[in-house]
Amino acid sequence: MPDRYRVVDGRIRNDKCEINVVEHCNLSCKGCSHLSPILPKHFVSPVDISTDLSILARHYRADEVRLVGGEPLLHPDLPAVAAAVRASGITERVCVVTNGLLLDRMDESFWQAVDKVEVSLYPGRHPSAEHHARYEDRARDHGVDLVASRVDRFRQSYTELPNHDRALTERVFRSCKIVHDWRCHTVANGMLFRCPQSYFLPKVLTEHFAVPDVDALRIDAGEDFGDRLLAFLDATGPLASCSQCLGTSGHLVRHVQVRRTQFRTEQEIPAREMVSRRQGHRWLRARGRKPLESTYRRIRRAVSRGRR
Ligand code: SF4
Repeated sequence: MPDRYRVVDGRIRNDKCEINVVEHCNLSCKGCSHLSPILPKHFVSPVDISTDLSILARHYRADEVRLVGGEPLLHPDLPAVAAAVRASGITERVCVVTNGLLLDRMDESFWQAVDKVEVSLYPGRHPSAEHHARYEDRARDHGVDLVASRVDRFRQSYTELPNHDRALTERVFRSCKIVHDWRCHTVANGMLFRCPQSYFLPKVLTEHFAVPDVDALRIDAGEDFGDRLLAFLDATGPLASCSQCLGTSGHLVRHVQVRRTQFRTEQEIPAREMVSRRQGHRWLRARGRKPLESTYRRIRRAVSRGRR
């Protein structure tokens, strides 16, 4: 199961930690795993971020804090958020992950506040080459890393239909790169989540989850918080959210924009039909683990072994 977390000088180390500075977006991508096309406007407050990260930083350090969304450039005061992150002592690097369409609006204070800008280029929805060249100049002038990558396909990310198949949920969790490899921890509303999906799915799919914080650890100043944090991150079983999530096992689909009113309807497919068996198995084998076998296949093997 997941590699255990390193603790250095009393602090848990991780590559990255994410903050959804806004949850809405100027695009409406069919496969959005943060469910932004259907989320209302929400802007994170620099004061709240400062409080949560300052407490968390006593026990946890990230190489990089990533400001994500939704579309983070919709936040009216991104430099203040970046400053709050830096002042908390949780990291020394602040990265913004954006579709780049609003980069033109960003002034000096933005470029001075961040260390890295990652631009996802979606088909037909990306800055022109001319604009991009201008952003490269600005990034160079301010010592900011500017990285752009094409995103032509998305993985199907969750199902709207109830999923009671525990073996499938277990397999999706075990092969989930988001929680085991990328470790995209998410801080939101005074809580820590092991992956963004376990923040967004229970919040939106209220018919499947009784409470939105079912998979959360509340950030508090208790003396034993560091121990509770490590136990929370090292836990080996599936999260409640995994039952509706496809992790990194969903089929790859072409990137398209959908009407916001259609976004949820598009996900009304049984989990079993949305999962790519090959994807999960390849990942498990690469890590020296055996994919879970279906009960049917186990019985069939046992019967054929008995016949020999
Ligand atoms: S909810 Fe489960 S399957 Fe989905 S990203 Fe998180 S750990 Fe992975």
